[in-house]
Amino acid sequence: MTKIIDGKAVSEQIKQELAVKTELLKSEKGITPGLALLLVGDNPASKVYVGSKERVSKELGYHSLVVKLPDTASEEEVLEYIKKWNNDPEIHGILVQLPLPKHIDENKVIMAISPRKDVDGFHPENFGRLVIGLPGFVSCTPAGIVELIKRYDIDVKGKHVVVIGRSNIVGKPIANLLYQKRDFANGIVTICHTGAKDISKYTLDADILITAIGVPNLIRKENIKEGVVIIDVGINSIPDSTKKSGQRLVGDVDFEGVKDMCSAITPVPGGVGPMTIAMLMQNTYLSASGEVGF
Ligand code: NAD
Repeated sequence: MTKIIDGKAVSEQIKQELAVKTELLKSEKGITPGLALLLVGDNPASKVYVGSKERVSKELGYHSLVVKLPDTASEEEVLEYIKKWNNDPEIHGILVQLPLPKHIDENKVIMAISPRKDVDGFHPENFGRLVIGLPGFVSCTPAGIVELIKRYDIDVKGKHVVVIGRSNIVGKPIANLLYQKRDFANGIVTICHTGAKDISKYTLDADILITAIGVPNLIRKENIKEGVVIIDVGINSIPDSTKKSGQRLVGDVDFEGVKDMCSAITPVPGGVGPMTIAMLMQNTYLSASGEVGF
């Protein structure tokens, strides 16, 4: 029987746990987790993401601050806000929604955020900490994948984990997390990318397959082996005339075609996606409570 990994349910559970812990943090220590969100420009997807992050942080009782700047905003203006929030004791997490307009250097902006408030986990200090196994902020999507692995008790130790995709926000961090010598990790990790001539050579041997590609339904039943665990990170929009919007979301994996061959699989939507915001909220809570362990 294939286990369908329900990221929506797990993310709801995490949010409920956080709401309870936040109440305690407020009443016992007088600390309210504070999250500052910066949106530059009017990219429709970014607006939706920032709106959801603001809504969930309010639901959890956080202090949330949203600044929206026009796409003509200068790099200096963005850096000014970061500087201000780095020094604001009521702000524990800073998130600059990416992508930024082309005239703003994303790396410069990411590096300006204090690593102690980098709840997106994109700062090189946090990524370096992750690689050498030190505590720090883990970026939200890979952190969400690890949380799903834990809560579904998926055995990673000694398993061949194949990650497709080498982005800084998903592929590289999840690969680095899953070979660490600790619980729910200790896997043997292969990273695949566009340099691979034939990804089947790797995917057919995967015990755990993690796809962060951005190509709809690229992975099909002929690419996997019986009993594999699939974590599909891809979020791709494809035309669908039966929908009012004329489109629907699918992952990188042909879910219907492969699901009976898998021991467990995440659906899209409703798998990894909902975990990302939950882990942003978790990182913000951990920053406020001082539990990150810097
Ligand atoms: P990206 O576009 O930065 O990188 C994609 C990677 O896939 C690249 O490293 C590339 O080498 C690899 N790739 C592309 N085509 C390939 C092919 N044919 N064979 C082998 N490798 C191939 O991607 P990203 O930012 O990591 O995002 C990947 C997907 O995950 C996208 O669909 C994105 O929307 C989704 N995503 C979802 C969440 C979430 O919260 N669930 C978060 C981030 C990204």
